[in-house]
Amino acid sequence: MTSDLQDPFASPPDQPHVVVVGSCNTDLVVSVTRIPEPGETVLGGELQTVGGGKGANQAVAAARMEAHVTFVGRVGSDTFGQNARAALHAEGIDTTYLLDTPNVASGVALIAVREETGENAIVVAPGANGFVTEAGIETARPAFDQANAVIVSLEIPLEAASRAIELGYERRIPVILNPAPAQTLPADLLAKVALLTPNETEAAILCKADPADTPEALAHKLLALGVGAAVLTLGAAGALLVTPDGIETVPGFPVRAVDTVGAGDCFTATLATEWARGKSLREAVTLANAAAALAVTRAGAQTAMPTRAEVQDFLKTGKGN
Ligand code: ADP
Repeated sequence: MTSDLQDPFASPPDQPHVVVVGSCNTDLVVSVTRIPEPGETVLGGELQTVGGGKGANQAVAAARMEAHVTFVGRVGSDTFGQNARAALHAEGIDTTYLLDTPNVASGVALIAVREETGENAIVVAPGANGFVTEAGIETARPAFDQANAVIVSLEIPLEAASRAIELGYERRIPVILNPAPAQTLPADLLAKVALLTPNETEAAILCKADPADTPEALAHKLLALGVGAAVLTLGAAGALLVTPDGIETVPGFPVRAVDTVGAGDCFTATLATEWARGKSLREAVTLANAAAALAVTRAGAQTAMPTRAEVQDFLKTGKGN
């Protein structure tokens, strides 16, 4: 990667165009006093139906950070999919390349959340997300042609995610890969990634790390995978930014966390949007920490994503909601 990594945008747009490629789910969430054991039935609270899926979460977060967002993925031929599309549309997200999949269910996550601890148990039925194909990604070429950044996550088949990374790379658009769920990835694919954003668990799997590795050692191993740069997220502690120029801790913001679901998605989307807006990677990581800190003070994933004005206000006042 060249040393212009910190500023790959010749004339940064005020409203960057961000293409987000990934999953779209509906989260069916029930609070419970305890997570059921196998064979057990537990009565829970009222059903909450909320938008989820890493891709859709990231699309909403980027849109609230005032990017022009095109979301690329698939929904099924049911009301979950129709409602998910409508919700993304209401956020101002272009869903032209969110393809319908006949006779397939939309992605759904069944989530039980333990009231007292926030601990959860999740079953995901990927449904239409498993039908995202290279050909489906190809249909979004016009969006890639206009994009300033591409965000890709891995709750879709790897061939499709790989095609999205290639389309971005071929156009010299920075590709931000959020490697979740974690898996080892081919070196030739990682070489096309400008910025990798794993949490510590994902980083350990990606790098086949030693359990004794410090976060700094992990960060160096991430860069050695051949990506342009990496940001290792560290929960409340913030993030480690590693580039060929060096490694830097970017501290998180202390908040009272109520729900950390979607924190990583908020982080990746804000980072990508602000980088595409022309901020240095260091500045973009600070903004991503601030946005994700705000997100963890609120319930839900998409519902928790802050607006750009809220993030700016939080940075000035240090106060969330
Ligand atoms: P993931 O949500 O993918 O597991 P992390 O737990 O590392 O990833 O969180 C992602 C980012 O969210 C962190 O880098 C940080 O900016 C923010 N974050 C997460 N938890 C907290 C917290 N308790 N307080 C403040 N910020 C947090």
